[in-house]
Amino acid sequence: MRALMQERQLLISTLIDHAALNHPTVEIVSRTCEGAEHRTDYKTVRSRALKLAKALIKLGVKDGDRVGSLAWNTHRHLELYYAVPGMGAVLNTVNPRLFAEQIEYVINHAQDNVLFFDITFAELITELRPRLLSTATFVVMTDRAHKPPGLDNCLCYEDLIEAEEDDYQWPQFEETRASSLCYTSGTTGNPKGVLYSHRSTVLHSFTACSMDGLQLSSQDSVLLIVPLFHVNAWGVPYASAMCGAKLVLPGPWLDGQSLFNLLRAERCSVSIGVPTVWLGLLKFIEENPHLISEKLTLARVLVGGSAAPRALIERLHHILGVTTIHAWGMSETSPLGTIGNLLPKHRSLPLDEQITIRAKQGRPIYGVEVHIADEQGERLPRDGKTAGHLKVRGPWVASGYFRGEGGEVLDADGWFATGDVASIDEDGYVQITDRSKDVIKSGGEWISSIDLENAAIAHHAVQEAAVIGLAHSRWQERPLLVVVARPGIEVTSEQILAFLSPRVAKWWLPDDVVFVKELPHTATGKLQKVQLREQFKTFVFSSDRPEAAPTRSDVNAATNNG
Ligand code: ADP
Repeated sequence: MRALMQERQLLISTLIDHAALNHPTVEIVSRTCEGAEHRTDYKTVRSRALKLAKALIKLGVKDGDRVGSLAWNTHRHLELYYAVPGMGAVLNTVNPRLFAEQIEYVINHAQDNVLFFDITFAELITELRPRLLSTATFVVMTDRAHKPPGLDNCLCYEDLIEAEEDDYQWPQFEETRASSLCYTSGTTGNPKGVLYSHRSTVLHSFTACSMDGLQLSSQDSVLLIVPLFHVNAWGVPYASAMCGAKLVLPGPWLDGQSLFNLLRAERCSVSIGVPTVWLGLLKFIEENPHLISEKLTLARVLVGGSAAPRALIERLHHILGVTTIHAWGMSETSPLGTIGNLLPKHRSLPLDEQITIRAKQGRPIYGVEVHIADEQGERLPRDGKTAGHLKVRGPWVASGYFRGEGGEVLDADGWFATGDVASIDEDGYVQITDRSKDVIKSGGEWISSIDLENAAIAHHAVQEAAVIGLAHSRWQERPLLVVVARPGIEVTSEQILAFLSPRVAKWWLPDDVVFVKELPHTATGKLQKVQLREQFKTFVFSSDRPEAAPTRSDVNAATNNG
């Protein structure tokens, strides 16, 4: 029997319509690429998005066409978030931190008809333009006064808007239609396109606004540090319109001081970013201790994208007095997959134990089913100890990549293999131990590089740490700890190993520690371990050199296999 409920489609245009009607004066504050502060509100964002949609139609954009953006977090990029999907086209947000060849690949692969770009990227676009074969129109996202020289063959964003009225009516269509296209970082091979739908985006927004989700609400002022060019900024721009939260957009200004100033001036209650962003902010505050007394209104930070080390959660708590919500996800999961909120039984635990739980990646939210499996695909127990390949399924999980890249990605039951290794405990808390390709296989057991990195980063002299598995003649692989020391602090390998010794299982202890000036990162700020393994491929562990006396591996192994 068919139900008697209205079959209104879940369209992105309904989000901005709702916000403009019910939260019309809620502010959207941006630091623009031109350096100015810009203030607008949901009503104006909608009005300008409608004008832009009309302009896009005049430029020849049709249903399903791709419109690219190469831009920072500003009000104009937010307007594109509504204008492009709203009129039935697909917004392809291109990550400017990719290499130029990858940017060219993405724009050509997506076949963007029109490309919007910030003034910061004028030179890059001039260089790439002859090779962007599908792109007929280029629009620089500024006004005429700030249009950089040499862009005569580009349109100007504000001119497009000025020329239109906001009397456009959003078209109605099926919610399963594509709305946006974001490419993965392509750490191995070319980036692959994840194609989101209106339906997946709206359903995902409900989760972001739920109490066990990201807890976004009309009470919030959100400093959105995660970029609009990566996984729809974790869906937060759409969720914010759904609940009427104020949005604060930092533009290209992501240093500790700029972020601190915005948090203070805009009385932000929540902020969202990857761990390195928080490390930058905390460093700035520690270098300017007088600022700590300036009470921030920040109550919680959402951290994800790579593991939030326990030491970071502690520092955020002790220095800023904020609660960390740790989330796991990926481009292919829109990205929210698991979210780390505490259960009632955890409330009475000492802070230390609460932080242990917060350092896990959180529990599955409704909409994303998760399980772990062994090499043969057999399900593994939810005992908090057994680690296996993490698989996910749900209405905002990808079913394949754009234009069939990567082939079939789901198994026969519709599960997507995330490429992550994790354990899941009885309460459903997922703990990511590694990416499958980064896990260290030592003497038949797995060592988690993430756990070792998190333990190392707790040492006061360690600014950043990466652990990679390298070949070992006896144990197959052993961990090498690569450290960037804090400037001005002397530290030795022995001191770091002595620090780690009581904190990790004996057989996990890295065989060697080496110091480097910096670590390689991907375009989304993750450690580039492929490159690091390449860099150290000729490294021979001290325990594996011919002259080596009884070694750390031997001592470790006695505990490992005993
Ligand atoms: P890519 O870098 O390929 O574009 P994403 O940006 O989508 O991929 O990142 C997804 C990956 O980031 C996950 O598969 C996982 O390995 C890692 N990741 C995301 N959040 C966390 C987290 N909270 N803890 C540990 N790893 C995480």
